[in-house]
Amino acid sequence: MTQSYFPIFWDTDSGTALVVGGGENAARKVRLLVAARARVHVVAPTAGEEIQAFAEEDRIILSRRPVGEDDIAGAAIVIAATGDNDVDSYCAAIAQAHGVKVNVVDRPDLSSFIVPSIVDRSPILVAISSAGTSPVLARRIRERIEASLSPNLGKLAEFAASLRSTVAERLNDGRKRRAFWELFLDGYGAEGVLENRPDAGRQAADELLGALARDEKPKGRVTLVGAGPGAADLLTLRALRALQQADIIVYDALVGPEILDLARRDAFRLFVGKAKGRHSYSQDRINGILIDEARRGSSVVRLKGGDPFVFGRGGEEVAALRNAEIDVDVIPGITAATGAAAALRLPLTQRDLANVVSFATAHPAAGKDEPDFAALADPNQTAVIYMGKTKAAEITTALIKLGRRPDTPVAVIENATLSNQRILTGPLCDLPGIAAISDLTGPALIVIGDVVAEADLTGAETFAQTATKDRAVA
Ligand code: SAH
Repeated sequence: MTQSYFPIFWDTDSGTALVVGGGENAARKVRLLVAARARVHVVAPTAGEEIQAFAEEDRIILSRRPVGEDDIAGAAIVIAATGDNDVDSYCAAIAQAHGVKVNVVDRPDLSSFIVPSIVDRSPILVAISSAGTSPVLARRIRERIEASLSPNLGKLAEFAASLRSTVAERLNDGRKRRAFWELFLDGYGAEGVLENRPDAGRQAADELLGALARDEKPKGRVTLVGAGPGAADLLTLRALRALQQADIIVYDALVGPEILDLARRDAFRLFVGKAKGRHSYSQDRINGILIDEARRGSSVVRLKGGDPFVFGRGGEEVAALRNAEIDVDVIPGITAATGAAAALRLPLTQRDLANVVSFATAHPAAGKDEPDFAALADPNQTAVIYMGKTKAAEITTALIKLGRRPDTPVAVIENATLSNQRILTGPLCDLPGIAAISDLTGPALIVIGDVVAEADLTGAETFAQTATKDRAVA
């Protein structure tokens, strides 16, 4: 039967930790104990470099001799890590006789406690144990927890500690204090602290305390979140946190179901993208929804494909929210260009081939009839064109006229990073052929430049072939 354990945390001020042994196993435990600011006594006839260095820095006491009964009897806990069965067994027996808790490395049968693997966000500590059933599984779990907890979680815990007395002063009702902590820790104040902006944390705490004290609804807020190019695991950790705190998520067509699945379960989801048979929401209407929801006190996430500030109209939304005096944060996302580049191992810049990369759109700027491609003429430039599919012929004509070689390599990537990713390639002069490809209906990027020749284009179709095939079918 599997051994059972009860987890406890040992107070390092309560006594001395004795480590018996001077080798690598001992050093590993000494390192953890020193990090926890424990008083450490190492007893070993010889000790490795790391333990010696700790002793020279006065961070531990090192006794270069064999271990004796008094060492063990005087310790609060003992870790035996000599690797010598006789010595380790001796330590275990003496410790048990004196009622001292003992761990023998890799010998649960001789141990009265085991040392868990930990995720350290001091003062927050997560301890993980599989009770020896599967150390590899325990390590996997540790990695997952490690990745899901902000590196600044400890700062947040300390920040919360520094707020305690203020909260107690300003809110005399226990229910309100609890509401404060829940709202604060789920909200943008805590997020600010995690992002190294303690001032934002203090301001949010102050506003929240005021609202709760006056029995008002706390202020809402909008976060523009970049959802990345499609694959759900290309979200940033910050975006994931925002999704898990949202009351309402306002999202576009480019945001897939796998990403929405990561949101808080009871968050309200509102689709405002273009869908067949239905008018899409106008930008004004979207701005209106964001403003109304925030005024109602909601924590609103405006979720957009790629990055909110790359052809995402994020700037317009920020301006509208600012005008309405609503607080707004922006969380960047991986834009389609870098997502597609990674998927194709296509370097967007490369010494000798491209020292400039431009993200452009084939749609004309406001007040202009035609898009202006002059900025994309430089042959040492990689041009990534968003929303360019229907403008392939115009782009080609314009760029060749501006002096780009007709044989400049081009890649078109549809549904980049998704399971249905599709790649087409060919020389610039053949690019207009894509207009005739009837099933190229997903979001697609056009990448133009010599770096395309460096990409991994396995499985790519060519513009000419696919276009011809399509015409034959039609
Ligand atoms: N803000 C987004 C771009 C929105 S504009 C970003 O930063 O990526 C919409 C255009 O983005 C599409 O027409 C297409 O050109 C491009 N796009 C978005 N996702 C894409 C994907 N997964 N694969 C290829 N192109 C994509």
